[in-house]
Amino acid sequence: MKITNGIVLELAKETGFDLVGFSKAEILEKETAQLEEWLSNNYHAGMSYMARNVEKRKDVRKILSNAESVISVGLNYYNKGEFSGDGNYGKVSRYAWGKDYHFVMWEMLEELTSKLKSMDENFESVYYVDTGPVMDKAWAQRSGIGWLGKHSNIITRQLGSWIFLGEIITNYKFSYNEPQPDFCGTCTACLDACPTNAIVENYVVDSSKCISYLTIENKDEIPNEFLGKFENWIFGCDICQDVCPWNKKFSRQTGHPGLKNIKNKELKIDEILNMNNKEFKSKFKDSPIYRAKLKGLKRNAEFIKKNDS
Ligand code: SF4
Ligand code: SF4
Repeated sequence: MKITNGIVLELAKETGFDLVGFSKAEILEKETAQLEEWLSNNYHAGMSYMARNVEKRKDVRKILSNAESVISVGLNYYNKGEFSGDGNYGKVSRYAWGKDYHFVMWEMLEELTSKLKSMDENFESVYYVDTGPVMDKAWAQRSGIGWLGKHSNIITRQLGSWIFLGEIITNYKFSYNEPQPDFCGTCTACLDACPTNAIVENYVVDSSKCISYLTIENKDEIPNEFLGKFENWIFGCDICQDVCPWNKKFSRQTGHPGLKNIKNKELKIDEILNMNNKEFKSKFKDSPIYRAKLKGLKRNAEFIKKNDS
């Protein structure tokens, strides 16, 4: 049976995805030039993997040689919820309140691609969530899912920016969406709100100044120049997304069972400082927080404590 856009849309919705878009598998010239400039400024900080596989990022046919299309999918992860404001607790970025999205999205993409393959055995695909050599934001923009906000997250007109992105690279041809235009306009709310001035120009984040990077991927000590600027974020940071008018207007509660089960919105700082590896594993093994390792989480907790002293 021939797989059409309509079939993919129907099956993707049935699988639980909120947004779907189709792009032709073309070489990403402009986006690769922007990536290379970002890398040349060392804005990727310690994320050396960002500088690897640039050729694959530029051309998905280096991943799947007969690729014709990229199907982008989006999953809403927004959970309503306020922080307590209690200084004994560190704040966790909204994406990490529930189950690790890699597990959630991998499972869903596996389900969706299996269904498509069962409709036509000639359907070939490779899928990624975040960790592969694929420019997920570029494909999301090209597929009409959303535009790149000035804070460098994808914003959708339907759900704001609280979405996880995935891509299916396939040998199948589809009809393609128009790229999503930029609706940031003259707004500068995210640039104005960032406490560390990490958004160094519109659409460009210097990771070495970003609380999200400093508390998650960063393997080193957090530089003292950021003391007093962390606003109690212990894992990630949502400030630039929280202030975005598109999120204020369009955020909608996720319906995904693994994501709406909130377990780690705030972490007690002293509890983290006294935690051992066994406790860490048992509390965070299904959570994105596990990626920071206990050592990283303790470093963050110490930094927040130092902030207060
Ligand atoms: S995540 Fe936080 S630190 Fe990073 S750019 Fe956004 S507001 Fe700034
Ligand atoms: S806060 Fe304003 S400038 Fe920043 S991403 Fe949102 S709409 Fe764009």
